[in-house]
Amino acid sequence: MTHEILTADGLKAFPLPMPQEGSKDERGSALVLGGSVSVPGAALLAGIAALRAGAGKLKIATVGSVAAGMGLAVPEAMVIGLAETPEGGVDAEGAVECLLKVTKGCDALLVGPGLVEDGPTTTLAIRLLEALPSASFILDAAAVCGLASYSDDVRRHGSRVVITPHAGEMAQLLDRSRDDVEADPLDAALRAVELLGTVVVMKGAKTWIVDPEGARWLYEGGGVGLATSGSGDALAGIILGLLARGVAPMAAALWGVFLHGEAGKSLAASVGPIGFLARELSGEVPGLLRKAA
Ligand code: AMP
Ligand code: MG
Repeated sequence: MTHEILTADGLKAFPLPMPQEGSKDERGSALVLGGSVSVPGAALLAGIAALRAGAGKLKIATVGSVAAGMGLAVPEAMVIGLAETPEGGVDAEGAVECLLKVTKGCDALLVGPGLVEDGPTTTLAIRLLEALPSASFILDAAAVCGLASYSDDVRRHGSRVVITPHAGEMAQLLDRSRDDVEADPLDAALRAVELLGTVVVMKGAKTWIVDPEGARWLYEGGGVGLATSGSGDALAGIILGLLARGVAPMAAALWGVFLHGEAGKSLAASVGPIGFLARELSGEVPGLLRKAA
């Protein structure tokens, strides 16, 4: 089966809503569940990217000891401090009741950036999927690695879920070696679709985006500068923001990969081919969206 190359032209088939008026509620409420004592900034990068992609409202749920700092670093967000393990990660058991309360009314959730333990994180993601039957989800990083044990649960909700693993995370998900995944990333992406029934974004220097209906897209890359710490958190946040705005999962994944890649190209031109920061990516997004409108 053939595939499409992801370009601005191809995206014309997936027009984005470009509201000229309306309230922040109409552009959707996004929630990031992420961060830990050792990686607090991942949730920040993702949250800001969601706002830059146009989400109306943002909540960040993170470990309790990081919450106050997060609130000051992202004054636009409502911040929720969660129960914490002695290792500085989210205590999934302790956090679940609080999360079930604060996620009510959220249109889209991102689970994963900066979370440190994949087992508890995955059970939390599944609980939220079940509790929020009309929200869209993006699962990234630690929230992807352990999904195989819950494949039936994920499949039940697959039509409103996007996963965004890099090769190492995909290798854990499929219980294969990283070399295998890197040798044939499309094959890995198709296996993940088969297993979970979600939209799959297989990240790398080139990125594959595939869905359960058989669509296959290849984005040929935004440049080597995107290989930098926090880059994937920015991508996940952009997709989250689009999902919050009501964009369908496959369209949000395609636009997210494109906007993230084009932001990389734009920073390569203005700053330099390497050395720009992941935190700078999301600032490029509003202008790219204006160009695309
Ligand atoms: P992560 O590993 O989760 O931080 O995600 C890295 C992001 O940067 C993904 O969107 C990748 O597709 C992208 N990326 C990583 N390496 C390269 C590269 N060499 N060229 C272009 N994009 C890359
Ligand atoms: Mg990542």
